[in-house]
Amino acid sequence: MYINKAKIIVVKIGSSNLVDGKGKLKEKWLKSFVKDIKNFKKKGKYFVIVSSGAIALGQNYLKVKKKKLKIEMSQALASIGQIYLTNIYRKMFDKNKIKIGQILISPDDTEQRRRAINIKRTFENLFKLGAIPIVNENDTTATSEIKYGDNDRLAARVAQIISANVLINFSDVDGLYNSKKNKKIIKEVKNINDEIYSFVDYKKNSYGSGGMSTKLEAARICMSSGCYMAIANGKHINPLAKLINSNVCTWFLPKVSSLDARKKWIVSSIGSNGKIYIDYGAAKALENGKSLLPAGITKVEGNFLKGENILIVDDAGKSVARGLTSFSSNEIKKIKGLKSEEIENILGYSSKSEIIHRDDMVKL
Ligand code: GLU
Repeated sequence: MYINKAKIIVVKIGSSNLVDGKGKLKEKWLKSFVKDIKNFKKKGKYFVIVSSGAIALGQNYLKVKKKKLKIEMSQALASIGQIYLTNIYRKMFDKNKIKIGQILISPDDTEQRRRAINIKRTFENLFKLGAIPIVNENDTTATSEIKYGDNDRLAARVAQIISANVLINFSDVDGLYNSKKNKKIIKEVKNINDEIYSFVDYKKNSYGSGGMSTKLEAARICMSSGCYMAIANGKHINPLAKLINSNVCTWFLPKVSSLDARKKWIVSSIGSNGKIYIDYGAAKALENGKSLLPAGITKVEGNFLKGENILIVDDAGKSVARGLTSFSSNEIKKIKGLKSEEIENILGYSSKSEIIHRDDMVKL
């Protein structure tokens, strides 16, 4: 069992685990979950809890029934519900003599390299203090364009940044089922291919924002980061102990990878502010491990700054690599298709000639 061997474990709690159909906190469940964490922590494991529930608890607290909330309203409800949520955790963990810390994350905190390193340190220092980080998206300031929106991918990105060994993604299903008629849980997934995507049931539960497709995206991040991920049903009392005893879940196994931590971070980015289109010759060069030069660029899409994590796409529209660009989208527009020697003349200043250096790039 991968959990027994793991040192750093991220547990993602969905709103439906924490809150019942009427929007009330499932206190007995939470007590049993906290007991589980206490027992496993004694074995020298470090835990991070990524918990949803701020919006659902805020709704319940203010008796707001409406399910489809406007973003401004969910921001305000999250602001109220998040205090409530953290307080509940604090009370429960206090009783077990365990300290907690709260970390609210916005996409920039994980998607900008410097900030990602900074949050990694915060996690490590909380571990040193013996505290359990309780994480949620910073829903109070998140707008629809700048938002994870689901804690599945957020939890996976956190797992990747702190080099966790296991992410347990608790929700209200037992795992990924192979088909609708003959419902059988897939035990292990080594590769997320079209067949796996065909098993996605697009129905969502009443509170959570994620679904099976965001869970698969989370799994993809984990798999390229060396982290095992389980989709499991968290509704049982003592959910962790139950999972370890029964192993009823779907495990996503990490890929063998020679990438260092920085490249793992590059490849598992959750989005891209732009795309750089390249011709056949450049695609071949990248395949052979070369850097991206302006000569092979045919088109730029989106607005981005130097240093951003950008997708490189071939002429058929297929993503071939991703990397940290050394030029802004405006600069690339001016020098695309040109020879490296011409860059200085066009831009008016000298610079390097690689648009994305191979050390800053990962093939997909
Ligand atoms: N961050 C949201 C909340 O705490 C939930 C996101 C999700 O359901 O994954 O309410």
